[in-house]
Amino acid sequence: MPSCSVFPVSATGNDMTPVPVHRPALPILATVNWPEGAGTPDPATAAALAAAAEKLTNGQLVAIPTETVYGLAANATDPDAVAGIFQAKGRPATNPLIVHVSDESMALTLVSQWPDIAQKAAAAFWPGPLTLVVPKADAVPDIVTAGGRTVALRCPSLKVTHQLIKLSQRPLAAPSANRSEAVSPTTAQHVLEGLGNRIGMILDNGPCEHGLESTVLDCTVNPPKILRPGPISAVQLEQALGISVYSSEPETSGAGQGSGSDTVLRSPGTQQRHYAPRTQLTLSKNAHSVITQLIQDGHRVGWLCNSPEESAVQTLAKSPEVLVIPMPKDPTAYARSLYATLHALDQRGLGRLIVDAVPSGPEWAAVRDRLNRAAT
Ligand code: AMP
Ligand code: MG
Repeated sequence: MPSCSVFPVSATGNDMTPVPVHRPALPILATVNWPEGAGTPDPATAAALAAAAEKLTNGQLVAIPTETVYGLAANATDPDAVAGIFQAKGRPATNPLIVHVSDESMALTLVSQWPDIAQKAAAAFWPGPLTLVVPKADAVPDIVTAGGRTVALRCPSLKVTHQLIKLSQRPLAAPSANRSEAVSPTTAQHVLEGLGNRIGMILDNGPCEHGLESTVLDCTVNPPKILRPGPISAVQLEQALGISVYSSEPETSGAGQGSGSDTVLRSPGTQQRHYAPRTQLTLSKNAHSVITQLIQDGHRVGWLCNSPEESAVQTLAKSPEVLVIPMPKDPTAYARSLYATLHALDQRGLGRLIVDAVPSGPEWAAVRDRLNRAAT
């Protein structure tokens, strides 16, 4: 879609000649695929990665797959390139970015201190879905850290992502590849829908393995603190680090603000409303009666349901006003499908989404966190 004509507006406004209006071209959508066992990528993947690395080196943005969600990447050492991320996402300048590195030695070029805890955590969980907040080096532009003195670092495990960082020979700043506050993308199609007219290239590696953002661990405090729960749990961290880890949870249904204003200041991106679909979402321990009332009030409702086998659910599901989506009973599978489900339901023109509250156990912490924020 290189350009189109509109009628009757013109630059001077005093004639009726159609004037070409330049709209941004659609991004290049390149499929990448590098199976676990394969030593080298296939030629098409290698070519796509080389093209992406060249764009990144030239200061352009590329949407990239990772094992968590799709990210919107730029050269983290180039402030102008990083500014492009904030612009494309409509992200507030106060919300710092995670910087992706190929290994610990690249991480060390970006820090002024590498705390013992960070070193241990990296040894245990990198490459993987764990982000470490550590004191930053001057080499990290202020725009990346929203002016703060710490930087968030992660070494992704997905092979294509890892290779892309190596080819770029630079750390990549990459928040989730969605407009600010919206649901993170777990497929290239989600990226295309949310940011397609704002970026030049998307690498498509299929659906993300985890489907939720990384765990963020603040290594500058003692005990280290989970700023955002994610695929690596507090229990896993405590076992690997041999010390207790501070973790707190927002109160349910948006009533509170996590561990208080301290969390907001230390990790601005953990603001309460985040990860939200366009359709109003409500978490409920009593979905059946809430939905019955909504139908009576004339709403069409999507129900992310934890027990579709119950007869009361099946009765309600017969109503044309209710779309029941059975959700996985396992927290890992639930996490993997949650954002894709929200993206799909946003396309259905429903009045409301009702989500069954998830169990209270620690293995559900990341899912609970995202649902609470989506419901705010
Ligand atoms: P996303 O934008 O989805 O990639 O999320 C990035 C998360 O990392 C947000 O919650 C940020 O607030 C958090 N983050 C990034 N940099 C820092 C930092 N220096 N200190 C604390 N949290 C950070
Ligand atoms: Mg995000």
